[in-house]
Amino acid sequence: MTDSVYYAELTPKAFRARLAAAPIAYLPLGTLEWHGEHLPLGSDGLQAQGFFERLAREVGGIVLPMLFLAPDMRFEIKGAAYFGMDYFGFPGDEAHQLEGSAYWVPDEFFAQLMEHCLAQLRRAGFRIVVAHGHAPSVQCVYANCEEWERRHGLKIFSCWREDESDGLGIQTDHAGGNETSLMMAMHPHLVHMEYLDPDPSVFPVAVGDEDPRTTASAERGQQAIALNLARMTELLREALATI
Ligand SMILES: [Zn+2]
Repeated sequence: MTDSVYYAELTPKAFRARLAAAPIAYLPLGTLEWHGEHLPLGSDGLQAQGFFERLAREVGGIVLPMLFLAPDMRFEIKGAAYFGMDYFGFPGDEAHQLEGSAYWVPDEFFAQLMEHCLAQLRRAGFRIVVAHGHAPSVQCVYANCEEWERRHGLKIFSCWREDESDGLGIQTDHAGGNETSLMMAMHPHLVHMEYLDPDPSVFPVAVGDEDPRTTASAERGQQAIALNLARMTELLREALATI
């Protein structure tokens, strides 16, 4: 069997072998979105993809290319569109169009896009889909999961736990201690902590929850990956046994 777990890199022969071993498709729900001065714009998809690669090597299955269109809160002010973090983290919560953000689609469009993806994956032979990444995209999956499972004959998973208060989940904040730690563990060459203001009294712009300068580390990222890898491995092995 080929070493690659990435759909786009598989020949039909390698695809057949991986699908027969474990008919699981992993869909990284990405964005092209401001994640602080210190993280790359594709951080959401990169974290989900990095976690899925590890999961696919453990349980089997195939990792899809990341989506970069996603839903989010959206506001229009004087004819200009603002979405997601554009509205948070500024003095007085004044809206700014954050540099590099280019991903927004309406909720209904995203739900339709997901349904078309699911229909294609079922047709290609998959029985289980794991979709995770950008929070509003994951929320859309949770909201529609049961109906989509019924309609498409699939089992659908995301990766959040019921209680994420330990900060060791997969993508539970916005470029804060959690996401920055995951990026440090998975893609250290893409993280630039030196781009953040060293003044501790200046909180990084449009970053959610904990200050990444004092709470993020590669070790914390590794711990989150190990914990969720064990949990998702168990869930997916159970699901494979029942299909
Ligand atoms: Zn994110």
